[in-house]
Amino acid sequence: MEDQKSMALLLRARLLECCPKFEIFLAHTFSEAKKILEKEDSIQVCLTDLTLPDSSNYEIVDLLKSFKVATVVFTGSYSEAVRHRVFDAHVADYVIKDGQVSIDYAVSSVHSLLQNPERTIWILSDNIRSIHRTQGLLRIQRYQLKVFEDYIDLIRALDDEVPDLLIIDRLSDERKMSVYDLVREIRTKYSDHDLPIISIEKKNKINQSIKLMKYGVGDLVSENYSPEELYLRVRKNLEQSQAYKDIKRISEVDALTQIYNRRAFFEKAEQMFECYQNEKRKFFLIMVDIDHFKQVNDKYGHQIGDQAIIFTATYLKSVFSNELVARFGGEEFIVLGECDSVDKVSSLCEVFRQEIEVQSYASIEVEFTVSQGVAFSGNSLDKAIAKADELLYEAKQAGRNQVVTESQKR
Ligand code: GH3
Ligand code: MG
Ligand code: MG
Repeated sequence: MEDQKSMALLLRARLLECCPKFEIFLAHTFSEAKKILEKEDSIQVCLTDLTLPDSSNYEIVDLLKSFKVATVVFTGSYSEAVRHRVFDAHVADYVIKDGQVSIDYAVSSVHSLLQNPERTIWILSDNIRSIHRTQGLLRIQRYQLKVFEDYIDLIRALDDEVPDLLIIDRLSDERKMSVYDLVREIRTKYSDHDLPIISIEKKNKINQSIKLMKYGVGDLVSENYSPEELYLRVRKNLEQSQAYKDIKRISEVDALTQIYNRRAFFEKAEQMFECYQNEKRKFFLIMVDIDHFKQVNDKYGHQIGDQAIIFTATYLKSVFSNELVARFGGEEFIVLGECDSVDKVSSLCEVFRQEIEVQSYASIEVEFTVSQGVAFSGNSLDKAIAKADELLYEAKQAGRNQVVTESQKR
């Protein structure tokens, strides 16, 4: 909602760019805005000017409040009184018109509001008034919220779901002791990046605050926080943890096939292997290699070769959907999993071999086959890999397009 037409078109273009899945409506006056709101019940977020030709007294924010639409105010006129006025009307954010940077900020603020319903924040507090205020403000931001009064309940809930952020909100002193245990327990399982924690603290409790940070709370907000302060801290913490998760994903996943890369395989496989050994559980390890792949590349070209690699990875992952599957090298793949039955594993490998032989041509019009070596023993991960590799070599020597398992040879 913006009366200046060139600004309205610019904002519209920028919003379309960053939120392409959403429909955007333009209104230049209060009455146009009202008509749209009455007609469209799917409007989620509004970016609005404060003064429109037929509404000079900020009625627009009251209108949006009555329609329960999350609102970002984009205004040229700012004063402390205006600020109070807009926050009273439950505005989610306001931006002062001041060139390109303010446009970027306004657009990113709308973008966050559209995404926030997918973000979960848990609040731990035994103070009803605190809960009321914090929850009320975060609702305006459209976050998914869950409130816990007891930390034991929170720890239990963490077994089923991990929120994107935890806020510890002015716990009473008698609950304070248990909060150190809570934070310590959370940090044994989840890093600062996996689950950021913000604590809302009394100003005069500086020692307590420092102790909390040493235990693993990442950020502090003072109890007299302003809405903007809470919003910005929450958003920053969520963005940082999301950036970390994105980078972690990029570092673990192979860009071509979207399955784990070799490095992620070793990181995860070492842990799994240790667990199998400690608990005396049986495992299987499969090495897969595409046959005569050089010829595939020569015959069809490198790009089609890539398609064959993607096809193999996707198929392998679908056959061994609950196991650790990774791209080990160029056209080589590896699978590690727990072995309930040697026969079951062998027959799955055989299914995979046959399906590649038949489906590769049917799906991507490239004829190729795979060879596999399957190990069921080895007292270290490296030894198990070496064994599977040896068996894979035997499969190649015996004419390719076959599975050689360790048990067959016993
Ligand atoms: P063998 O049956 O003995 O395994 O024969 P091969 O030709 O498959 O074996 P070799 O290891 O000699 O060749 C593998 C080829 O895979 C060489 C390499 O150019 C190709 N390759 C490796 N990574 C990629 C990739 O990402 N894309 C494509 N298109 N080719 C790749
Ligand atoms: Mg090969
Ligand atoms: Mg190879």
